[in-house]
Amino acid sequence: MKNNNRREFIRKSFIGISGAALVPGVISGPVTTSVPITSIPELPVRILGKTGIRTPLISMGTAGAYDPGFVRAAYESGIKLFFSATYYGEGNNEKMVGEGLKGLARDSFVIGTAVPSDGMDNRTGKFTVPFNANTYIKKADESLKRFGLNYVDIFLFPYAARKETVTNEEVLKAMEQLKKQGKTRFVGIASHSDMEEALKAASDSGVYDTAMISYNYKIVNKDSLNEAVLYAKKTGMGVIAMKTTAGASRNKTGTAFNSDAALKWVLQNENLATIVSGMTSLEQMQKNLAILKNLRISDQEMKDLELASIDGESSLYCQQCKKCIPQCPHNLDIPTIMRSYMYAYGYKNTTHAWYTLTDAKLPEKPCENCGICKVKCPAKFNIKNRIADIARLNNVPRDFLVA
Ligand code: SF4
Ligand code: SF4
Repeated sequence: MKNNNRREFIRKSFIGISGAALVPGVISGPVTTSVPITSIPELPVRILGKTGIRTPLISMGTAGAYDPGFVRAAYESGIKLFFSATYYGEGNNEKMVGEGLKGLARDSFVIGTAVPSDGMDNRTGKFTVPFNANTYIKKADESLKRFGLNYVDIFLFPYAARKETVTNEEVLKAMEQLKKQGKTRFVGIASHSDMEEALKAASDSGVYDTAMISYNYKIVNKDSLNEAVLYAKKTGMGVIAMKTTAGASRNKTGTAFNSDAALKWVLQNENLATIVSGMTSLEQMQKNLAILKNLRISDQEMKDLELASIDGESSLYCQQCKKCIPQCPHNLDIPTIMRSYMYAYGYKNTTHAWYTLTDAKLPEKPCENCGICKVKCPAKFNIKNRIADIARLNNVPRDFLVA
């Protein structure tokens, strides 16, 4: 995309924010522990669709958190929603989050986790083996045990992309049973590719309550995505934004990236209930929460976003458009590999990058039989170089990683 177009893209994307969206709210429910409710700051809230949950505009994605004390500090700072996944650290992340929230009144926080299904091919978004509701529910049970909870608030079905998968009869049956059995209050999808299709399918199903999607200033199909978000909202879905800094808390060369501007940009869209921010330090958390005092974007912040939106080698955000897959004769799962690359260089989260790369099932010597890579990526990534770079992670033994 040419710079002028990109600039226009960013400007056009602004949606006026009204004061109504910033009404301060409190975390409901009695707190019975050492954390008195009066100590919890009041952060601006929005309503998470038909769940009725009043959520602060910033929530916590826990992939980059390794200390229960950090999760507790987030809670004490006013964050209410916490999202983990069964595949973060092979379940250790769920245990850590459970530990961090232990002893708090159960209705004073909201916990969600993503439970992936077996046999999902991320390249196609389809199942390679039939989905089994009982197996899926067992995985959800294991997740509850790790958290040390009788129920979570939201079970998410991740890697949702294609309608046929999102509305697969067995998937819907599993979701309904999880609710019926009291193992979760709500269910949702998480999607970072074919998001419009996934959002519409989830909305029309009448089963899902929420959706978590990638949403940031770099998204190229913003108009159609905004339409899908609006559609979802009208059907009562609570829509949550992830990947809101477009993969970078800093860029690959280490230059500071204006993440405040990126988060503010997302929150201009009032159809999004909250941002799930993968915070890794107290400093970052405080910085993120500080933006809630004033969501207006300054001219300088606009300029910073314009600069950061230029595609090329310094960019880390893969649109997950999948245009690369049919171009690769070896059918590599390039979008997943590029996400691993983003986690490694943008989020500096080697553990998450390692697990994501495992998911991509990268061969030992990828690209070795190719000369010049013919893959043309619209984000202008040098795919072959990036794969060679990130493939080194495959040689890192798992026990070297933070659990
Ligand atoms: S690597 Fe490029 S072509 Fe492939 S999914 Fe990402 S942005 Fe699209
Ligand atoms: S160099 Fe790698 S990414 Fe490019 S076409 Fe060959 S196998 Fe695919």
